[in-house]
Amino acid sequence: GAMRHLPYFCRGEVVKGFGRGSKELGIPTANFSEQVVESFPSDISTGIYYGWACVGNGDVHKMVLSIGWNPFYKNIKKSVETHIIHTFKEDFYGEILSIVITGYIRPEKNFDSLDALISAIQEDIEEAKRQLDLPEHLKLKEDNFFHRPEGKTVNNH
Ligand code: ADP
Ligand code: MG
Repeated sequence: GAMRHLPYFCRGEVVKGFGRGSKELGIPTANFSEQVVESFPSDISTGIYYGWACVGNGDVHKMVLSIGWNPFYKNIKKSVETHIIHTFKEDFYGEILSIVITGYIRPEKNFDSLDALISAIQEDIEEAKRQLDLPEHLKLKEDNFFHRPEGKTVNNH
């Protein structure tokens, strides 16, 4: 369920999330709309993934992504949230986020404390940075998907 669909290409608008305070933790996550989430393969595993992301026509950056259960829908629908490993000057709600998911890190976990959660995410970020420097992942940074408005918008193996 996790690797079978990779690499996975996806493009969609950034919407308001559930205000879980990701930004306050220093780890803002750009949420995709329900419609975009519904377009994901229904059997894709929840958990933490990594890949490349680009806002509008901006630069392509490393990212970590969580596919999780959406508390707003009583955990019957998924949510897809991208933390881009880059410091942005401003928020980008309403902009088009393009991503390619290239690898999987781990399943979802519950943490005993906020500190444990934050350090797990920091480890995920370090793991993503390392993996994305490997040729098989690095090559997707240059994919045509990223700087072409008419580029492919569906998953393409
Ligand atoms: P929400 O609950 O609305 O998703 P977050 O606290 O998760 O709020 O913050 C997400 C928002 O922060 C994104 O929609 C985006 O506009 C902004 N943002 C700023 N920097 C980043 C980044 N590096 N990665 C993801 N989102 C970012
Ligand atoms: Mg968020």
